[in-house]
Amino acid sequence: RPRVLSGIQPTAGSFHLGNYLGAIRQWVALQETHDAFYCVVDLHAITVAQDPKTLRQNTRVSAAQLLALGIDPEHATLFVQSHVPEHAQLGWVLQCLTGFGEAGRMTQFKDKSARQEAQVGVGLFTYPILQAADILLYQAHHVPVGEDQRQHLELTRDLAQRFNTRYGKTFRLPEAYIVKDTAKIFDLQDPTSKMSKSVPTGVVELLEDPKRGAKKIRSAVTDTGREIVYDPAGKAGVSNLLVIYSALTGRTVDELVAAYEGKGYGDLKKDLGEVYTDFVTPVQERVRHYLSDVSELDKILARGAERAREVAAKTLARAYDRLGFLPAG
Ligand code: ATP
Ligand code: MG
Repeated sequence: RPRVLSGIQPTAGSFHLGNYLGAIRQWVALQETHDAFYCVVDLHAITVAQDPKTLRQNTRVSAAQLLALGIDPEHATLFVQSHVPEHAQLGWVLQCLTGFGEAGRMTQFKDKSARQEAQVGVGLFTYPILQAADILLYQAHHVPVGEDQRQHLELTRDLAQRFNTRYGKTFRLPEAYIVKDTAKIFDLQDPTSKMSKSVPTGVVELLEDPKRGAKKIRSAVTDTGREIVYDPAGKAGVSNLLVIYSALTGRTVDELVAAYEGKGYGDLKKDLGEVYTDFVTPVQERVRHYLSDVSELDKILARGAERAREVAAKTLARAYDRLGFLPAG
Protein backbone atom coordinates (compact mmCIF):
# COMPACT_ATOMS: atom_id res chain seq x y z
CA ARG A 1 0.00 0.00 0.00
CA PRO A 2 1.29 3.46 -0.79
CA ARG A 3 1.81 5.78 2.17
CA VAL A 4 0.24 9.12 2.93
CA LEU A 5 1.09 11.57 5.64
CA SER A 6 -0.49 14.84 6.58
CA GLY A 7 -0.85 17.08 9.60
CA ILE A 8 -2.99 19.84 11.00
CA GLN A 9 -2.26 22.53 13.57
CA PRO A 10 -4.20 22.60 16.84
CA THR A 11 -3.80 26.39 17.08
CA ALA A 12 -7.40 27.52 16.98
CA GLY A 13 -9.07 24.53 18.59
CA SER A 14 -11.76 24.39 15.97
CA PHE A 15 -10.96 23.48 12.41
CA HIS A 16 -12.66 25.50 9.68
CA LEU A 17 -14.51 24.56 6.55
CA GLY A 18 -11.37 25.12 4.44
CA ASN A 19 -9.41 22.62 6.52
CA TYR A 20 -12.15 20.05 6.10
CA LEU A 21 -12.81 20.49 2.39
CA GLY A 22 -9.20 21.16 1.41
CA ALA A 23 -7.53 18.46 3.47
CA ILE A 24 -9.37 16.30 5.99
CA ARG A 25 -11.97 15.03 3.56
CA GLN A 26 -9.14 13.62 1.45
CA TRP A 27 -7.51 12.13 4.54
CA VAL A 28 -10.69 10.20 5.23
CA ALA A 29 -10.90 8.87 1.68
CA LEU A 30 -7.21 7.96 1.48
CA GLN A 31 -7.21 5.91 4.69
CA GLU A 32 -9.11 3.23 2.73
CA THR A 33 -6.50 2.85 0.01
CA HIS A 34 -3.28 3.97 1.66
CA ASP A 35 -1.15 3.28 4.69
CA ALA A 36 -2.11 6.56 6.31
CA PHE A 37 -0.37 8.64 8.98
CA TYR A 38 -2.15 11.73 10.26
CA CYS A 39 -0.87 13.98 13.01
CA VAL A 40 -1.87 16.94 15.10
CA VAL A 41 1.19 19.13 14.71
CA ASP A 42 1.64 20.74 18.09
CA LEU A 43 5.32 21.51 17.44
CA HIS A 44 4.17 23.72 14.58
CA ALA A 45 1.59 25.39 16.79
CA ILE A 46 4.26 26.92 19.04
CA THR A 47 5.71 28.92 16.14
CA VAL A 48 3.39 31.53 17.59
CA ALA A 49 2.90 31.91 21.36
CA GLN A 50 0.41 29.46 22.87
CA ASP A 51 -1.11 29.32 26.32
CA PRO A 52 -0.08 25.86 27.66
CA LYS A 53 -3.49 24.90 29.04
CA THR A 54 -5.22 25.98 25.86
CA LEU A 55 -2.71 24.14 23.68
CA ARG A 56 -3.23 20.90 25.60
CA GLN A 57 -7.01 21.25 25.32
CA ASN A 58 -6.85 22.22 21.65
CA THR A 59 -4.68 19.22 20.84
CA ARG A 60 -7.36 16.89 22.22
CA VAL A 61 -10.11 18.89 20.54
CA SER A 62 -8.24 18.56 17.25
CA ALA A 63 -7.87 14.80 17.59
CA ALA A 64 -11.55 14.51 18.53
CA GLN A 65 -12.51 16.47 15.41
CA LEU A 66 -10.44 14.22 13.17
CA LEU A 67 -12.19 11.19 14.63
CA ALA A 68 -15.58 12.87 14.34
CA LEU A 69 -14.92 13.76 10.71
CA GLY A 70 -14.18 10.16 9.86
CA ILE A 71 -10.57 9.27 10.62
CA ASP A 72 -10.70 5.70 11.86
CA PRO A 73 -7.83 4.73 14.17
CA GLU A 74 -8.16 1.14 12.94
CA HIS A 75 -7.47 2.29 9.39
CA ALA A 76 -5.09 5.18 9.93
CA THR A 77 -2.34 6.00 12.40
CA LEU A 78 -3.49 9.09 14.28
CA PHE A 79 -0.93 10.71 16.55
CA VAL A 80 0.41 13.89 18.10
CA GLN A 81 3.62 15.23 16.57
CA SER A 82 5.43 15.91 19.87
CA HIS A 83 4.91 12.27 20.91
CA VAL A 84 7.33 11.22 18.19
CA PRO A 85 10.65 12.92 18.97
CA GLU A 86 12.12 11.89 15.62
CA HIS A 87 10.26 14.81 13.98
CA ALA A 88 12.33 17.40 15.83
CA GLN A 89 15.49 15.34 15.37
CA LEU A 90 15.21 15.02 11.61
CA GLY A 91 14.01 18.62 11.49
CA TRP A 92 17.40 19.75 12.78
CA VAL A 93 19.25 17.68 10.20
CA LEU A 94 17.20 19.19 7.39
CA GLN A 95 17.70 22.72 8.72
CA CYS A 96 21.39 22.17 8.21
CA LEU A 97 20.73 21.33 4.57
CA THR A 98 18.51 24.33 3.85
CA GLY A 99 19.80 27.56 2.41
CA PHE A 100 18.87 30.76 4.19
CA GLY A 101 17.62 32.32 0.96
CA GLU A 102 15.74 29.16 0.10
CA ALA A 103 13.79 29.29 3.36
CA GLY A 104 13.26 33.02 2.91
CA ARG A 105 11.41 32.45 -0.35
CA MET A 106 8.48 30.73 1.38
CA THR A 107 5.51 32.96 0.69
CA GLN A 108 3.58 31.73 3.70
CA PHE A 109 6.36 32.96 5.98
CA LYS A 110 6.28 36.34 4.30
CA ASP A 111 2.50 36.57 4.74
CA LYS A 112 2.41 35.32 8.30
CA SER A 113 5.36 37.36 9.54
CA ALA A 114 3.96 40.50 7.95
CA ARG A 115 0.65 39.92 9.75
CA GLN A 116 2.12 39.15 13.13
CA GLU A 117 2.22 41.97 15.64
CA ALA A 118 4.38 40.25 18.24
CA GLN A 119 8.03 39.55 17.48
CA VAL A 120 8.45 36.98 14.74
CA GLY A 121 10.24 33.87 15.96
CA VAL A 122 12.86 31.84 14.11
CA GLY A 123 10.50 28.86 14.39
CA LEU A 124 8.01 30.53 12.09
CA PHE A 125 10.83 30.86 9.59
CA THR A 126 12.02 27.26 9.84
CA TYR A 127 8.63 25.59 10.19
CA PRO A 128 8.46 24.36 6.56
CA ILE A 129 11.70 22.46 7.23
CA LEU A 130 10.17 20.71 10.23
CA GLN A 131 7.22 19.95 8.01
CA ALA A 132 9.60 18.36 5.51
CA ALA A 133 10.85 16.14 8.32
CA ASP A 134 7.26 15.19 9.22
CA ILE A 135 6.75 13.91 5.70
CA LEU A 136 10.13 12.33 4.95
CA LEU A 137 10.22 10.29 8.16
CA TYR A 138 7.30 8.23 6.87
CA GLN A 139 8.59 7.81 3.31
CA ALA A 140 5.21 9.14 2.19
CA HIS A 141 4.22 8.78 -1.46
CA HIS A 142 1.47 11.38 -1.23
CA VAL A 143 0.70 14.34 1.01
CA PRO A 144 -2.95 15.45 0.96
CA VAL A 145 -2.99 19.22 1.57
CA GLY A 146 -4.58 22.44 0.38
CA GLU A 147 -3.10 24.64 -2.34
CA ASP A 148 -1.32 26.86 0.20
CA GLN A 149 1.07 23.99 0.99
CA ARG A 150 2.30 23.39 -2.56
CA GLN A 151 5.47 25.44 -2.14
CA HIS A 152 6.33 23.67 1.11
CA LEU A 153 5.97 20.34 -0.66
CA GLU A 154 8.41 21.52 -3.30
CA LEU A 155 10.88 22.42 -0.56
CA THR A 156 10.39 18.96 0.97
CA ARG A 157 11.23 17.31 -2.35
CA ASP A 158 14.28 19.52 -2.83
CA LEU A 159 15.59 18.66 0.62
CA ALA A 160 14.99 14.94 0.13
CA GLN A 161 16.77 15.07 -3.21
CA ARG A 162 19.68 17.01 -1.73
CA PHE A 163 20.11 14.58 1.14
CA ASN A 164 19.90 11.60 -1.21
CA THR A 165 22.48 13.06 -3.58
CA ARG A 166 24.89 13.96 -0.82
CA TYR A 167 24.57 10.92 1.44
CA GLY A 168 22.97 8.16 -0.61
CA LYS A 169 19.33 7.34 -1.26
CA THR A 170 17.48 7.65 2.02
CA PHE A 171 14.18 9.44 1.45
CA ARG A 172 11.32 8.93 -0.96
CA LEU A 173 10.38 12.09 -2.89
CA PRO A 174 6.77 12.78 -1.91
CA GLU A 175 4.09 14.26 -4.10
CA ALA A 176 1.48 16.79 -3.08
CA TYR A 177 -2.03 15.39 -3.35
CA ILE A 178 -4.19 18.43 -4.00
CA VAL A 179 -7.81 18.08 -5.09
CA LYS A 180 -8.27 20.98 -7.43
CA ASP A 181 -11.96 21.71 -6.80
CA THR A 182 -11.55 22.38 -3.09
CA ALA A 183 -7.83 23.19 -2.92
CA LYS A 184 -8.51 26.74 -1.79
CA ILE A 185 -11.65 27.70 0.09
CA PHE A 186 -11.90 31.45 0.46
CA ASP A 187 -12.78 33.67 3.36
CA LEU A 188 -16.50 34.47 3.32
CA GLN A 189 -15.93 38.15 4.07
CA ASP A 190 -12.92 38.50 1.79
CA PRO A 191 -13.28 35.99 -1.03
CA THR A 192 -9.87 36.85 -2.44
CA SER A 193 -7.93 35.45 0.53
CA LYS A 194 -7.94 31.91 1.84
CA MET A 195 -10.04 30.93 4.80
CA SER A 196 -7.46 30.66 7.58
CA LYS A 197 -7.18 29.87 11.28
CA SER A 198 -4.93 32.85 11.78
CA VAL A 199 -7.22 35.45 10.18
CA PRO A 200 -10.58 34.86 11.81
CA THR A 201 -12.92 37.09 9.84
CA GLY A 202 -15.13 35.20 7.40
CA VAL A 203 -14.16 31.81 8.78
CA VAL A 204 -16.73 29.10 9.41
CA GLU A 205 -15.49 27.16 12.41
CA LEU A 206 -16.74 23.61 12.62
CA LEU A 207 -17.17 23.85 16.38
CA GLU A 208 -19.06 27.11 16.61
CA ASP A 209 -22.82 27.06 17.06
CA PRO A 210 -24.19 25.79 13.72
CA LYS A 211 -26.65 28.68 13.79
CA ARG A 212 -23.75 31.12 13.83
CA GLY A 213 -22.01 29.23 11.05
CA ALA A 214 -25.16 29.32 8.93
CA LYS A 215 -25.51 33.01 9.67
CA LYS A 216 -21.95 33.65 8.50
CA ILE A 217 -22.83 31.87 5.26
CA ARG A 218 -25.99 33.94 4.86
CA SER A 219 -24.01 37.13 5.33
CA ALA A 220 -21.14 36.09 3.06
CA VAL A 221 -19.89 38.84 0.77
CA THR A 222 -21.29 38.26 -2.69
CA ASP A 223 -20.63 40.14 -5.82
CA THR A 224 -22.41 42.81 -7.74
CA GLY A 225 -24.97 41.55 -10.22
CA ARG A 226 -27.53 38.94 -9.32
CA GLU A 227 -26.88 35.96 -11.50
CA ILE A 228 -25.63 32.76 -9.91
CA VAL A 229 -22.76 31.66 -12.10
CA TYR A 230 -19.40 30.03 -11.51
CA ASP A 231 -16.76 32.62 -12.36
CA PRO A 232 -13.89 32.62 -9.83
CA ALA A 233 -12.19 35.65 -11.38
CA GLY A 234 -15.26 37.85 -11.81
CA LYS A 235 -17.52 36.51 -9.05
CA ALA A 236 -15.23 35.21 -6.33
CA GLY A 237 -17.83 35.26 -3.56
CA VAL A 238 -20.58 33.37 -5.34
CA SER A 239 -18.10 30.93 -6.87
CA ASN A 240 -16.69 30.11 -3.43
CA LEU A 241 -20.20 29.39 -2.13
CA LEU A 242 -20.90 27.15 -5.12
CA VAL A 243 -17.71 25.18 -4.48
CA ILE A 244 -18.60 24.69 -0.82
CA TYR A 245 -22.18 23.75 -1.69
CA SER A 246 -21.01 21.25 -4.28
CA ALA A 247 -18.47 19.65 -1.95
CA LEU A 248 -20.97 19.26 0.88
CA THR A 249 -23.73 17.76 -1.26
CA GLY A 250 -21.94 15.90 -4.05
CA ARG A 251 -23.94 17.91 -6.62
CA THR A 252 -21.75 19.36 -9.35
CA VAL A 253 -21.31 23.11 -9.68
CA ASP A 254 -23.05 22.94 -13.08
CA GLU A 255 -26.04 21.20 -11.56
CA LEU A 256 -26.26 23.86 -8.88
CA VAL A 257 -26.00 26.70 -11.35
CA ALA A 258 -28.86 25.16 -13.35
CA ALA A 259 -30.93 24.60 -10.21
CA TYR A 260 -30.53 28.24 -9.12
CA GLU A 261 -31.29 29.81 -12.45
CA GLY A 262 -33.62 32.74 -11.91
CA LYS A 263 -33.08 32.68 -8.15
CA GLY A 264 -31.10 35.18 -6.10
CA TYR A 265 -27.97 35.14 -3.95
CA GLY A 266 -30.19 35.13 -0.86
CA ASP A 267 -31.76 31.80 -1.85
CA LEU A 268 -28.39 30.21 -2.47
CA LYS A 269 -27.00 31.40 0.84
CA LYS A 270 -30.05 30.37 2.83
CA ASP A 271 -30.02 26.85 1.35
CA LEU A 272 -26.27 26.47 1.81
CA GLY A 273 -26.69 27.55 5.43
CA GLU A 274 -29.10 24.64 5.90
CA VAL A 275 -26.85 22.18 4.06
CA TYR A 276 -24.00 23.24 6.31
CA THR A 277 -26.08 22.91 9.49
CA ASP A 278 -27.11 19.38 8.51
CA PHE A 279 -23.49 18.48 7.87
CA VAL A 280 -21.97 19.95 11.00
CA THR A 281 -24.56 19.12 13.66
CA PRO A 282 -23.77 15.37 13.85
CA VAL A 283 -20.04 16.13 13.60
CA GLN A 284 -20.31 18.29 16.71
CA GLU A 285 -22.19 15.53 18.52
CA ARG A 286 -19.40 13.09 17.76
CA VAL A 287 -16.76 15.58 18.91
CA ARG A 288 -18.58 15.91 22.24
CA HIS A 289 -18.68 12.13 22.48
CA TYR A 290 -14.92 11.75 21.96
CA LEU A 291 -14.17 14.55 24.42
CA SER A 292 -16.42 13.02 27.07
CA ASP A 293 -13.83 10.28 27.63
CA VAL A 294 -10.43 11.88 27.47
CA SER A 295 -8.61 8.78 28.71
CA GLU A 296 -9.96 6.75 25.77
CA LEU A 297 -8.93 9.55 23.40
CA ASP A 298 -5.45 9.68 24.91
CA LYS A 299 -5.17 5.90 24.49
CA ILE A 300 -5.95 6.16 20.79
CA LEU A 301 -3.24 8.80 20.45
CA ALA A 302 -0.73 6.75 22.46
CA ARG A 303 -1.28 3.72 20.23
CA GLY A 304 -0.92 5.94 17.18
CA ALA A 305 2.35 7.40 18.45
CA GLU A 306 3.71 3.92 19.08
CA ARG A 307 2.98 2.85 15.51
CA ALA A 308 4.32 6.12 14.10
CA ARG A 309 7.54 5.80 16.07
CA GLU A 310 8.28 2.39 14.64
CA VAL A 311 8.42 3.88 11.17
CA ALA A 312 9.98 7.20 12.11
CA ALA A 313 12.76 5.68 14.20
CA LYS A 314 13.87 3.45 11.33
CA THR A 315 14.12 6.35 8.91
CA LEU A 316 15.95 8.55 11.39
CA ALA A 317 18.44 5.79 12.25
CA ARG A 318 19.23 5.35 8.58
CA ALA A 319 19.66 9.11 8.08
CA TYR A 320 21.91 9.42 11.15
CA ASP A 321 24.03 6.54 9.91
CA ARG A 322 24.37 8.07 6.44
CA LEU A 323 25.37 11.39 8.00
CA GLY A 324 28.25 9.71 9.79
CA PHE A 325 26.94 9.99 13.34
CA LEU A 326 28.63 7.51 15.66
CA PRO A 327 26.20 4.74 16.71
CA ALA A 328 25.08 5.08 20.33
CA GLY A 329 26.12 1.49 20.99
P1 ATP B 1 -2.91 28.86 9.61
O1 ATP B 1 -3.58 30.02 8.93
O2 ATP B 1 -2.59 29.12 11.04
O3 ATP B 1 -1.74 28.32 8.82
P2 ATP B 1 -4.68 26.98 8.45
O4 ATP B 1 -6.08 27.42 8.42
O5 ATP B 1 -3.87 27.13 7.19
O6 ATP B 1 -3.99 27.71 9.67
P3 ATP B 1 -3.36 24.48 8.89
O7 ATP B 1 -3.42 23.64 10.12
O8 ATP B 1 -2.12 25.25 8.60
O9 ATP B 1 -4.62 25.47 8.93
O10 ATP B 1 -3.70 23.59 7.62
C1 ATP B 1 -4.27 22.30 7.69
C2 ATP B 1 -4.62 21.83 6.29
O11 ATP B 1 -5.74 22.57 5.79
C3 ATP B 1 -3.49 22.03 5.27
O12 ATP B 1 -3.45 20.90 4.43
C4 ATP B 1 -3.92 23.24 4.48
O13 ATP B 1 -3.40 23.24 3.18
C5 ATP B 1 -5.42 23.07 4.49
N1 ATP B 1 -6.11 24.36 4.35
C6 ATP B 1 -6.00 25.42 5.17
N2 ATP B 1 -6.77 26.43 4.77
C7 ATP B 1 -7.39 26.00 3.63
C8 ATP B 1 -8.32 26.61 2.73
N3 ATP B 1 -8.76 27.84 2.93
N4 ATP B 1 -8.75 25.88 1.67
C9 ATP B 1 -8.30 24.62 1.46
N5 ATP B 1 -7.42 24.00 2.27
C10 ATP B 1 -6.97 24.67 3.35
MG1 MG C 1 -1.72 26.84 7.23
